[in-house]
Amino acid sequence: MLAPALAHLRFPVERSRGRRYPELSHTYRNDFQRDRDRVIHSRAFRRLEDKTQVFSRGSDHFRNRLTHTIEVSQIARSTARALGLNEDLTEALALAHDIGHPPFAHAGEAELNHIMQRYGEGFDHNLHALRIVESFENPYARFPGLNLTFEVREGIVKHSHDLAPGENPQFDAYLPGMRPPLEAQLIDLADEIAYNAADLDDAFDAGLVRMEDALEAVDKFRDLYEETEIQFPGATDRVRMHEIVRGLINFLASGLIEGTIAGAGELTGPEAVREHPERVARMTPEAAEATLQMKRYLRIHVYESEQLKKARAAVGGQFEALFDALMQHPEWLPEAYLEQAQDEPRHRMVCDYVAGMTDGFFRKMCAEVGVG
Ligand code: MG
Repeated sequence: MLAPALAHLRFPVERSRGRRYPELSHTYRNDFQRDRDRVIHSRAFRRLEDKTQVFSRGSDHFRNRLTHTIEVSQIARSTARALGLNEDLTEALALAHDIGHPPFAHAGEAELNHIMQRYGEGFDHNLHALRIVESFENPYARFPGLNLTFEVREGIVKHSHDLAPGENPQFDAYLPGMRPPLEAQLIDLADEIAYNAADLDDAFDAGLVRMEDALEAVDKFRDLYEETEIQFPGATDRVRMHEIVRGLINFLASGLIEGTIAGAGELTGPEAVREHPERVARMTPEAAEATLQMKRYLRIHVYESEQLKKARAAVGGQFEALFDALMQHPEWLPEAYLEQAQDEPRHRMVCDYVAGMTDGFFRKMCAEVGVG
């Protein structure tokens, strides 16, 4: 067992900048644990169940955005614990990391972004996630939104990229120019480990990945393949694939732990992490190289495959048609969205509504209004 090498860089819950609306403390859960629970009990979190990760239909075993989120949370928590970081903060951030995703995965995000450019704006799932937890979720009688701690909101804004001063006035409160706590820095890399491994696994089931191609393209895949041949000569390809994927996750997560220890150098505490000119969380060069090879392979054989291109094309036109129909008929939107339109332009309201949909609801609405 590794000693928790970075316990001195842990972000302690006592140092939190707190919530927008002050609340009494809870008897047995600290503020980050409560944030985790608020995310789990939100409607946006439940809707992840019917949002595409990569493959939308065809097997009951494909990941969806909810099961992907749980895998990210598992990897992020394991690495945070091994390093001695704050597991509660890490878990809250991992569970929230994809709640701003629209239906139909990256196709949906690209479509909404494209449509919003017509109005001189764009769509960003991190910004959308912040709007969800600040405005759209309203389960509590005492305050609007989920009233999450500063660090969880900051992590939602910054988990995938740093924020430069002046980059986006909406984010000025979130310490632009400073790194987020190390716990938030882990999320993006845990996400990458989870989806690269899962996409290989799901694409194998979908018939897009073949052992012969993968072992030529990814050195680490070949090493693990050869190990399984020696250790489990009678194993089926399905089991062998699972052993390889399992080995890849282990290799990459270990690479994240070791790389982050190296990246931390002589840093003395969580404030030094914030002020450091670059991110501390990183993979070892070997794990980073394996990640690069996996991404390259997945791009060619999976993301740009005919099968996925067709699936994307099938929904592409529907986004535009549904968006335009809702622009012309705002009365089709629920009351809560119409209220929001008093302060914001209609295209923003329609974008928020469509982005919040599950795949199933999107399809149903398209059928109801006769689009696509
Ligand atoms: Mg993700």
